[in-house]
Amino acid sequence: MFEKILIANRGEIAVRIIRACKEMGISTVAVFSEADREALHVSMADESICIGPAPVRDSYLNIPSILSAALVTGAQAIHPGYGLLSENAEFARNCAQCGLVFIGPPAQVIAQMGDKNEARRTMKAAGVPVIPGCELVEDPREGRREAEKIGYPLLIKARAGGGGRGIRLVNSPEEFESAFQTASAEAEAAFGDGAVYLEKYLSPVRHIEMQILCDQSGNVLCLGERDCSIQRRNQKLIEESPSCALTPTQRSKMIEVSTLAAKAVGYVNAGTIEYLLDENGNFYFMEMNTRLQVEHPVTEMVTGLDLVKWQIRIASGQSLAYTQKDIALTGAAIECRINAENPALNFRPGCGKISLLHVPGGPMVRFDSALYQGYSVPPFYDSMIGKLIVHANTREEAIRKMRAALCELIIEGVETNSELHMEILSDEAFVSGQYHTDFMAKREKTGQQSVC
Ligand code: ADP
Ligand code: ADP
Ligand code: MG
Repeated sequence: MFEKILIANRGEIAVRIIRACKEMGISTVAVFSEADREALHVSMADESICIGPAPVRDSYLNIPSILSAALVTGAQAIHPGYGLLSENAEFARNCAQCGLVFIGPPAQVIAQMGDKNEARRTMKAAGVPVIPGCELVEDPREGRREAEKIGYPLLIKARAGGGGRGIRLVNSPEEFESAFQTASAEAEAAFGDGAVYLEKYLSPVRHIEMQILCDQSGNVLCLGERDCSIQRRNQKLIEESPSCALTPTQRSKMIEVSTLAAKAVGYVNAGTIEYLLDENGNFYFMEMNTRLQVEHPVTEMVTGLDLVKWQIRIASGQSLAYTQKDIALTGAAIECRINAENPALNFRPGCGKISLLHVPGGPMVRFDSALYQGYSVPPFYDSMIGKLIVHANTREEAIRKMRAALCELIIEGVETNSELHMEILSDEAFVSGQYHTDFMAKREKTGQQSVC
């Protein structure tokens, strides 16, 4: 087992990883930007090193700085968390070249799945159903031809897309050309890669993803699903496990297919396979995220497994201690992403000093966050400042528990979306479980926006 790990991330996920290390008796090295001197992950780690100015490209994406910090402090492994460098194959390769263990899958698997077109091709070849669509389209004319075959509405997607960005809906042939030009230009600007492909726009659908854990000996575990259909602009807002849209037979089928998919790509460590599930119970591969997912705690709650500890164990060479028949989803877990943003002002992200903080408690209530009273939320990073997670025997009880926990949560000094979460948890469609990925768009259309 490692003696010292560097955490190449910030915020709640850096804190989450440091906690796991502490419990495992592993020393921790935090890295931080000049804007994060007072951040919680810095004070919680055994050692910390400033890696550059506030903008992520100068600090949290600065590969030479991060590798130097690991070498200088004698860390043996690097945990990349999510976002930032977590899906950067070059970084994973550089770690290996420096004799450091990257806590994640092999660089070549990251590269293969990070190219969403290549990922679709690989999964198709492995016998996994993928969303109807086509491969990369070079120009609008070729695009129009492919679009006719696929049918409208469709999505233009960036090969390098992520984080809900790089996706554009096209309703008719007339819209195609301009949508194509904008999508490609946006992808070039956001990801430095303008390549796009087309997918049929499926609706109504649910976003169902399967959590995978694979060790270095080729053993694969599938830890069941998360339903992440409550989204705003393709970004997840609420996640739950199990999904009330899946029958036990469908779940078994998805576990079987996901296990096969993980084996087909030679996957190692924790990963997530995302699918869309249609009303007829058909599911289609959408993409694979080769890292720890933001919403991993809901899986931890229903399986009782600590995913971060397993990531570390696997990276150090340990084998999985369970087989698929040991895995059962117990009860129901829900997560609400608490963002520093104002729903009444078109979800404008906010920053500022936390003047008052009260965190809900009680059995099976978890708040993953890097906030503390007096902390100033900087303007440079992701607006997600916390994740509130609850676990109960049934979905109904979990909803009630989440409502009570949200009532108790007090964050003053920055606007948050916590009131919006409260409204969603009281929404008939959510409570009945009859909701799809268009849930938020429908709410906004009917003027049900939060006015908190
Ligand atoms: P998850 O599926 O785990 O919710 P997301 O795709 O929403 O993951 O991304 C996880 C985190 O990484 C989020 O904080 C998101 O803002 C960030 N992120 C992911 N991909 C990108 C990207 N290509 N560019 C910028 N940020 C990204
Ligand atoms: P990202 O890499 O940004 O996470 P995804 O390909 O996972 O992008 O898509 C993000 C979200 O967009 C999905 O969760 C889903 O709600 C929606 N989406 C993506 N592809 C389709 C599709 N073909 N039809 C309908 N909705 C889609
Ligand atoms: Mg996705």
